[in-house]
Amino acid sequence: MSLNPSLETKGGILVNLVLMGLPGAGKGTQAEKIVSKYNIPHISTGDMFRAAIKEGTELGMQAKSFMDQGALVPDEVTIGIVRERLSKPDCEKGFLLDGFPRTVAQAEALETMLADLDKKIDYVINIDVDQSILMERLTGRRICKDCGSTYHLVFNPPAKDGVCDRCGGELYQRADDNADTVQNRLDVNIQQTKPLLDFYEGKGYLRNINGQQEINTVFVEVEKLLGSLT
Ligand SMILES: [Zn+2]
Repeated sequence: MSLNPSLETKGGILVNLVLMGLPGAGKGTQAEKIVSKYNIPHISTGDMFRAAIKEGTELGMQAKSFMDQGALVPDEVTIGIVRERLSKPDCEKGFLLDGFPRTVAQAEALETMLADLDKKIDYVINIDVDQSILMERLTGRRICKDCGSTYHLVFNPPAKDGVCDRCGGELYQRADDNADTVQNRLDVNIQQTKPLLDFYEGKGYLRNINGQQEINTVFVEVEKLLGSLT
């Protein structure tokens, strides 16, 4: 393992992670649990951009000018911002990358950058959930037309089909949540993610965790994986 015992922090382990998972896989929940238990910074792309813009770094300003035009931030700017972030002292004890890399080109740039910083990825954790279950999770939301209460057909169903428990109003499904839209979003994500998973599989970093279990059971598997590092 790449762990350097001399850098091991009190009450935590030194671990560099990339977290992956399709929409609905529960990635955000697991990210929160991991950073809280292992006391490592959660580095999500959105937060990183916001921080760089707020600090007014040159790269942050470049990113802002693209975002203000509604344009995609080019890779060189994004990668530069990731590099700045990973160079900060709080990443000495490890980090959890979430939302970056998105492409194999970015993953390759990350490898180079980490080598420069004398770091490497320990694991790429992929929260793995079957498409049919993701569909069920992502299309199940229902909203009350009258009071706006939200329900979920699986996780928080109303007592009576299609009727709001609180006010008796009619429940509807938002257009964003309909099967075609959700399937399309999943297809795009799967297409983007597949080469990245293959890349990390090839590197030997990839660990699939079954995300079809209870949230806490999923986390126990994550803990087991990371426990093997100590
Ligand atoms: Zn209602």
